[in-house]
Amino acid sequence: MYDQLASIVSKENIVQNKPLKNHTYTRLGGNADYFVTPVTYEQVQHVVKLANQEKVPFTLLGNGSNLIIKDGGIRGIVMYLGKLAAITVEGTKIIAGSGALIANVSKQALTNHLTGLEFACGIPGSVGGALFMNAGAYGGEIKDVLLRAKIVDRDGELKVMEAKDLDLSYRTSNIPTNGYIVLEAEFGLEVGDFKQIKAVMDDLTYKRESKQPLEYPTCGSVFKRPPGYFAGKLIQDSGLQGKQIGGAQVSLKHAGFIINKDEASAKEYITLIEYVQQVVKEKYGVSLEREVRIIGEDG
Ligand SMILES: Cc1cc2nc3c(=O)[nH]c(=O)nc-3n(C[C@H](O)[C@H](O)[C@H](O)COP(=O)(O)OP(=O)(O)OC[C@H]3O[C@@H](n4cnc5c(N)ncnc54)[C@H](O)[C@@H]3O)c2cc1C
Repeated sequence: MYDQLASIVSKENIVQNKPLKNHTYTRLGGNADYFVTPVTYEQVQHVVKLANQEKVPFTLLGNGSNLIIKDGGIRGIVMYLGKLAAITVEGTKIIAGSGALIANVSKQALTNHLTGLEFACGIPGSVGGALFMNAGAYGGEIKDVLLRAKIVDRDGELKVMEAKDLDLSYRTSNIPTNGYIVLEAEFGLEVGDFKQIKAVMDDLTYKRESKQPLEYPTCGSVFKRPPGYFAGKLIQDSGLQGKQIGGAQVSLKHAGFIINKDEASAKEYITLIEYVQQVVKEKYGVSLEREVRIIGEDG
């Protein structure tokens, strides 16, 4: 497998048995068998075709800000698109590679006096990860600004998809169900006033930094907002703030966050998530649905 992958992406873009801890915001997880970093869209297509042909498991990693990787790591190929990160501004449109950080696209919008992506200035994901789950914050979401995306489908074929065909809705899209790999996104923005755009971004950054435990490794909001409730409030009212299992703790700063306080294992972090779900269900009858995705194998 190593030689076949090397013939596609060259040896410097493959690492065998690569630790993934530093590729996730929770700093959790074991190793990847083959960590592959393509530098062209064609390489992405060829790697997908190879994985299909050889029936090797295939996992896509964005910026690791909405993922918990289990302690046993990930078998087969893990593809990371961090080198496909070009950002181009064309009038009121921004075209960004899937590996670009959505926060950097938001900054480019500001620099070019374009409004519409202010909400994304503090979201730590990649463009691909942001489309995958229709990332959003403070009243804005990807759906509001996405025009179209270049994707590679399960068979390794490249296609252009209009935003409406990606079924973007609250923290979801049809990208996972169709197994699409986002290569590039085109955003449609409007001309705005630099000072006003900056003021909104500064305000959102202040709100985020003052309310969220960003000083610790964390996956962000662990749960989706249950209809009619706020997950953080339910967790707080259940008396769970500060609850700790091993090195994982329900944040004292924001109950909707779980922090890796002291070198937690993925097992401890996941056990705490399940404990919170169980207690909230018992006390309030509300099932908290995870926003964060859990992948990989047990240690
Ligand atoms: C401190 C903190 C704050 C956060 N705040 C917010 C917030 O305000 N709003 C919000 O919506 N989210 C928030 N998040 C969650 C996270 O940043 C978003 O979900 C983000 O969109 C995830 O992108 P990623 O690149 O990190 O994806 P990853 O975590 O790497 O992956 C998540 C999923 O996306 C898939 N994926 C990644 N790239 C691609 C691609 N190119 N094509 C297809 N699938 C892909 C992966 O396979 C995986 O299944 C926060 C997270 C943290 C840690």
